[in-house]
Amino acid sequence: MFPTAIAGSLPKPSWLAETHKLWPQWKAQGDALREAKADATLLWIKAQEDAGLDIVGDGEQARQHFVHGFLEQVEGIDFANKVKMGIRNNRYDAMVPQVVAPLRLKGRVHAMEAQLARAHTTRKLKFTLPGPMTIVDTVADRFYGDKVKMAMAFAELLNQEALALQADGVDVIQFDEPAFNVYMQEAADWGVQALERAAQGLTCTTAVHICYGYGIEANVEWKKTLGDQWRQYEQVFPALARSSIDQVSLECFHSHVPMDLMKLLEGKDVMVGVIDVASDEVETPEQVADTIGRALQFVARERLIPCTNCGLAPMDRDIAMRKLQALAQGAALARQRHG
Ligand code: ZN
Repeated sequence: MFPTAIAGSLPKPSWLAETHKLWPQWKAQGDALREAKADATLLWIKAQEDAGLDIVGDGEQARQHFVHGFLEQVEGIDFANKVKMGIRNNRYDAMVPQVVAPLRLKGRVHAMEAQLARAHTTRKLKFTLPGPMTIVDTVADRFYGDKVKMAMAFAELLNQEALALQADGVDVIQFDEPAFNVYMQEAADWGVQALERAAQGLTCTTAVHICYGYGIEANVEWKKTLGDQWRQYEQVFPALARSSIDQVSLECFHSHVPMDLMKLLEGKDVMVGVIDVASDEVETPEQVADTIGRALQFVARERLIPCTNCGLAPMDRDIAMRKLQALAQGAALARQRHG
């Protein structure tokens, strides 16, 4: 009951990359960088196990950013000439690469860290990929001229890598779709369909993570404009409930998401965010167990996976570590209370 997991990313150690940044610069190059990425991956596998998490991941240590890490292995993208673009409906500006030709994978994207993680843990292994709609919202299109067409092209490439990750022994493949919370109608119209294309043929567990973003200032400011009740999930969850995706990761603790919206996901496993990533205050096990208790009103106990609200990448490493421990301890307490 209540197996614990994290949304995906973890802070990069200061010897690997700049800290507290969403697009950090690497501290090494070439072979030294490859080695450092592998070391950081192993370090976090061990740290997640030590914290007591049941489902562990690579912490996204080998990718600069959760979207651009994938794009770096895609042919047809001009990374040398990035342009400034407002993303997530102009919530903030980012320097994004441009799609300039038909998209094709150059080869495997995440083989190194997936195989390394698999070789070093016997726990369930989750691996994250960006979702097609969120990718489309994080690149400048100079070629396709049609969002849906481009999303489907990315979905095919994601599917190739996802099938390869499954062959590497990954147990859960999760697609990150924060854009679903920004373009709710489009998400229901074609976003979920593109997501299903990305997950086509997978026999491992499939998941989607939909959040209100990392704890960066632009997101904190945006959340202030969303009012007392955040009902974005209401438009997307029915389409997801009808989809073939097995699990949905959502934001809960400290958010203004009405908890009863989780009822819309009946039949799905729900990764309930019980750890806030926008605050450095470390949750107590009691707080975590209380959130789990409240969510049990709307999610069946065998379907509830306590999780973080989002990734922990820009966070202080020590605080992130303590939050992982709080997550595991809180889930243990909830097992005592509800077992
Ligand atoms: Zn997130």
